[in-house]
Amino acid sequence: MPVRMLPRAAAAALTLTFTVAAAPASAAPAAAPDRALAARVVTYDAGASAEFKAAVDRGAAIWNESVGNVELRPVAAGQRANIRVVADNGWPRAVTTSLGNGTVYIGRQAVDEGHSTIRISSHELGHILGLPDRKPGPCSSLMSGSSAGTTCTNPYPNAAEKSEVEGKFAAALGRAETSPR
Ligand SMILES: [Zn+2]
Repeated sequence: MPVRMLPRAAAAALTLTFTVAAAPASAAPAAAPDRALAARVVTYDAGASAEFKAAVDRGAAIWNESVGNVELRPVAAGQRANIRVVADNGWPRAVTTSLGNGTVYIGRQAVDEGHSTIRISSHELGHILGLPDRKPGPCSSLMSGSSAGTTCTNPYPNAAEKSEVEGKFAAALGRAETSPR
């Protein structure tokens, strides 16, 4: 009977609200995995990356060589990818919607200025994997991006950048056991 259910539902809603409000945002420790977890697979669609497709595939492969907690994989035909990679005439950029999800733009403006297409691809994928820009910075840093100059072609994340991505995906994997993607 709706009349009997209403108070109970209202009480439940109040309880839920209280619980959520009472949990301090800072009191959420990352669960320490007690067993080896498989990598989280993040798919990418380079179908609209035009002349940059090989560079995008190389950038993804570099991440796969560099970290173990996430694996970038070309999306299967007909499936929706976590990451869309698009070529355009602007400056390269990434729009991240959540960890491992978003759109990468391989902008021809930087390519025309002489920046490495593989470094651009790897750098922008780094944003989708949770890394911020670190500009200005040295060529040894992937996230120093264009600030390292056009002579810098290094497409590899440094130790700190690798570790940061590993940590973010370790936390994501720990939570993934109770929540669907
Ligand atoms: Zn950037």
